[in-house]
Amino acid sequence: MSKFQLTGGACSVLMNGTPPDNFAPTMQVLSLKQLQASGAASDRYRIIISDGGNYMQAMLAVQLNDLVHSGSLAKHSVITLDKFACNDVQDKRIAILLAVTVLGNSEKIGDPVSLDKGGDKPVSAVPSPATNQRPAPAPAASAPARTPAAKPAPPPRAGAEQAPSLVPIAGLSPYQNKWTIRARVTQKSDIRTWSNARGEGKLFSVNLMDETGEIKATGFNAVVDSHYDQFEEGKVYYLTNARINLAKKQFSNLNSEYEISMEARTVVQECTDTSAVPEITYNFIPIDQLQSIAKDAHCDIIGVVHEVGPAVEFISKASNKSTVKREISIVDRSAASVRLTLWGKTAESFQGEDQPVIAFKGVKVGDYGGRSLSMFSTSTMYPNPDLPEAHELRGWYDNGGSNSSFQAQSSGGIATTGATGVFNRAELKTLAFVKESNLGTGDRPDFFSTRASIIFVKPENIMYPACASADCSKKVTQLDENNWRCEKCDKSCETPEWRYLLSFSVADHTSQAWLQAFNEVGVIIMGISAPELQELKTQDQAAHDRHIASAIGRTWYFACRAKEETFNDLTRVRYGVNKVFPVDYKADAWANLDIIKKY
Ligand SMILES: [Zn+2]
Repeated sequence: MSKFQLTGGACSVLMNGTPPDNFAPTMQVLSLKQLQASGAASDRYRIIISDGGNYMQAMLAVQLNDLVHSGSLAKHSVITLDKFACNDVQDKRIAILLAVTVLGNSEKIGDPVSLDKGGDKPVSAVPSPATNQRPAPAPAASAPARTPAAKPAPPPRAGAEQAPSLVPIAGLSPYQNKWTIRARVTQKSDIRTWSNARGEGKLFSVNLMDETGEIKATGFNAVVDSHYDQFEEGKVYYLTNARINLAKKQFSNLNSEYEISMEARTVVQECTDTSAVPEITYNFIPIDQLQSIAKDAHCDIIGVVHEVGPAVEFISKASNKSTVKREISIVDRSAASVRLTLWGKTAESFQGEDQPVIAFKGVKVGDYGGRSLSMFSTSTMYPNPDLPEAHELRGWYDNGGSNSSFQAQSSGGIATTGATGVFNRAELKTLAFVKESNLGTGDRPDFFSTRASIIFVKPENIMYPACASADCSKKVTQLDENNWRCEKCDKSCETPEWRYLLSFSVADHTSQAWLQAFNEVGVIIMGISAPELQELKTQDQAAHDRHIASAIGRTWYFACRAKEETFNDLTRVRYGVNKVFPVDYKADAWANLDIIKKY
């Protein structure tokens, strides 16, 4: 005698329509078989479950596959069906198991017979031990053992909310024609267009989720016009009259074997009773633990948008098409920050100035500069979601968290300008701001970037004769015509190495400032090397002057270092240029668009 008691009559209840809410029968797995679905990448398991008197077919929702892989769910396991849905598939009534508890293993209990064809065996004639856990509703012996197969789902009528006969997403297959699903949109794509030899077109897709699983639905051309605006992320819809195809996994990150192709006849209706449809679930990883996630894996992240980079347009190498990307930096309570890249319309329209909390689902982990994150077509983001984690983060960030020093998980990108002289638009300051906030007057140098135009180049001492030894750029003194001496190296050379020491005035719409630049920056600003300019001076003074004049009026991004210096008892802030970058007018336009949007 087994130590387990199965819920007698459970099969009959599952076969006969709507089980009561708390019905969680204890049943035994008689067999477990992996389905050979052509073209499917994820396993599906068909199992036979028994109540001791009868047995019937069931499917395991893919999220339970791990139970099989780990060996905890196997032939003769006794399980409690915590959550399930019943569905008619190809004239068979099948229980789709969504959540189970494995109680243990046992030898085969009873001598159950099939209930598959239903009705032909009165359930009451097969007594089995009654459960002592939950009273199972007594099966009505006279009732037909099952509902008619695949009751057609009436398409939902606009305006009138009704309950069409629903099929769980996990139960969808190409063999069914009539079905309606009730699902939440977890992600909605941009409208994508294509054009090739055979013509052009457009498409969009939505990811749909119910308690049994997820599936992608795609619509082309006219369907884009009729349905794109109808879908809104997070909302719940009835969807009926569409085709089920094998999933094209290369375009999806969902596990489902199938996907939905919306057609002209497809009906979509919003469902206001959303209680039965689960919210999106997250498995958040603290940012400081991203190092433990493998490259290219997907993960869920929640954080506060700490910094927002500009939208930048570029030509994708893969598609040779123009696209827009934007990098943001997000932080969480682990005192870590990570760079995350947004693409396309999401990047263009992103508004992060008020430091929202954002929950990201299914973002891709990259290893560029440590760990970075990237949205891709199937990732989703929810600004300010109504989640406990989000409220906690908000409170933390607004009450001092924003002043934490964050351990960067990714370098580069929108990292700080700093001594490395990387141009950072987020640190772009006006000259008036630089002066008014007294940058450079503290104990340590301050770094900033500015966009300014050169209005004057001091023509005197534009360069100096430097020691020609490697790694030495000390000024040398001329002893005689072919004899220049370096004190540091204690050496003489015949000809010095001319190097720039530029002092020039720049202006933006707010103020004017003097900047200093050494050789590397000087070469870029002057357009020729210092020896070339020196040569010009000896050959043709007028040409030399014209060349210097040509540097005036040009606009650059300058990455600068501000530090107070004292010379002859006079203390003033000196602005040294670490790096100079040509203006990216496109990126400027995008950044300006962001600024204008705030008004
Ligand atoms: Zn030297």
